[in-house]
Amino acid sequence: MIDVSGLTKLYGSRTAIEDLNFNIKSGEIVGFLGPNGAGKSTTMKILTGFMPASFGSAKIAGFDVFDQPIDVKRNVGYLPETPPVYLEMVVEDYLDFAARLHDVEKAKLKAAVSSAIERTGLSQVRKRIIGNLSKGYRQRVGIAQALVHDPKVLILDEPTVGLDPVQIIEIRELIKGLAGQHTVILSSHILPEVTATCQRIIVINKGKIVAQDTIENLTNRINRGVLFTMEVKDATSSGISALKSLSGIKTVQIEGPGKLLIELNPEQGELRDIIIEAAVREKMGVLSFGSEKLSLEEVFLQLTTQENHS
Ligand code: ADP
Repeated sequence: MIDVSGLTKLYGSRTAIEDLNFNIKSGEIVGFLGPNGAGKSTTMKILTGFMPASFGSAKIAGFDVFDQPIDVKRNVGYLPETPPVYLEMVVEDYLDFAARLHDVEKAKLKAAVSSAIERTGLSQVRKRIIGNLSKGYRQRVGIAQALVHDPKVLILDEPTVGLDPVQIIEIRELIKGLAGQHTVILSSHILPEVTATCQRIIVINKGKIVAQDTIENLTNRINRGVLFTMEVKDATSSGISALKSLSGIKTVQIEGPGKLLIELNPEQGELRDIIIEAAVREKMGVLSFGSEKLSLEEVFLQLTTQENHS
């Protein structure tokens, strides 16, 4: 449903996104996760036809965002970071206006507005002025304008930013309910947002995709680049050097007195015996040995900070 290939955007000489490649299948709900400045909004603006890319291609529902922008706009609903709502308008009038902007046929306007109102839980406030609504309800209006023309794809940029915790949960539930009927891509700079709502995540950092997988696979995959902790009586420098020189070991760090954190290179086989044998050979006096699991939060941090060190 969304096919992105080699997508690159330069602002002057600054590269905002570089060679992005990803596909999103019909009915999927995918999180676009990355720290501020990673290139999320840039990508979304290109996908919705708001802005051209410098290189590469993007197709939505089979239509090219550059060559067939009108077909693309018909098939896409977009909630920008700042919702395009008119605060002085009444909810249903605004949605009627949004439906007309999206070329909904006259005969279907009423039904389209009513359906959007119902699906976003706005029935009780349909006659209220948008400016008098809570932020959570205003965000619902923003989502309603994105889906009033029943698009195949919904693109939501940071949909829960600035909402209170109860509103956040409500909006997440609302978005989850839209998956299946629509293909949804939502951006966020916070991990819990995508883990709560999405089936799959694409992690972007400094304009590049650093991972794309299901949340489960992502955690498992990184856990395979395993961390071990080992407590020893004598953390001698010769012992630590011996451990570091073992094949498959990425780093050995001293965490505290006698406590070592040993990180393996990704995709290594079983190395526990070899590590312990080396420590015994070096007479370090092994007291304990265990594996540390990385949380998804740590995985995300690793993915989005690694580049800074290279
Ligand atoms: P995100 O949405 O992930 O926070 P953006 O797509 O807004 O990231 O920005 C990506 C990069 O492009 C950032 O370095 C940002 O400063 C830069 N950028 C965004 N918009 C412009 C612009 N209009 N002109 C110049 N640089 C921009």
